[in-house]
Amino acid sequence: MERRPLIAGNWKMNLSLRDAISLAKDIVTGILDIEDRDVLIAPPFPFLYPINKAIEGSKLFLGAQNMHWEEGGAFTGEVSGLMIRDVGCTHVIIGHSERRIIFKETDEMIAKKVKKAIDLGLYPILCVGERLEEREDGKTFEVVKNQLEGGLSLIDEIPDTFIIAYEPVWAIGTGHTATPSQAQEVHSFIRKWIEERYGKEKASFIRILYGGSVKPENIKELMAEEDIDGALVGGASLKVDSFLKIVRF
Ligand code: PEP
Repeated sequence: MERRPLIAGNWKMNLSLRDAISLAKDIVTGILDIEDRDVLIAPPFPFLYPINKAIEGSKLFLGAQNMHWEEGGAFTGEVSGLMIRDVGCTHVIIGHSERRIIFKETDEMIAKKVKKAIDLGLYPILCVGERLEEREDGKTFEVVKNQLEGGLSLIDEIPDTFIIAYEPVWAIGTGHTATPSQAQEVHSFIRKWIEERYGKEKASFIRILYGGSVKPENIKELMAEEDIDGALVGGASLKVDSFLKIVRF
């Protein structure tokens, strides 16, 4: 089954409002002639609403970088799935390693977010990936399996639109990209895990993105791997030229 490639830009906590809007508009223009793949940006929360207005009518998808699992209430500083949906997001990144490591998000919290996102009709991008010491200890598959089981523990069925991002922590923002075969090995492990749990057909639909120092120079060889269906791009998504080169791999 042919899965439609998805290139997603995670802007993290970067850019001014003015630069963010102009980058979003430049991406819209840059993908006008592209028909065979999906492109998504995940700007910081305060920029979602104005960017949604700025890209209205285009085929650029809008996602948030995180969400809370409750729809509202006394959760100072948090943003709900309802709110991000309200300002035009179709997708939401859940369980990014920076959320897990810096903000101490657990698999239980991530599972609640995944469930709420699906209930609200948002497409989750669930991030999984091992740390360097875990890889060196030969625990990559075990860590990834635990994160998948943990993150999906509250749902019985995953929608075909569910997205998983394999992001080895040692490759994020370090310039050390996983080799295509290192990435493919884990992507294929993830697809087999989905197949065992949800069946062959489901496994053939689910897109698995690679993330970790993706650049214009390495995207082509990564995308040539059978189970790599796209990329979650951090640093290189902040400049229109590099992001569009990745989109056009
Ligand atoms: C990320 O944080 O999702 C990421 C992949 O970052 P970078 O591309 O900068 O390594």
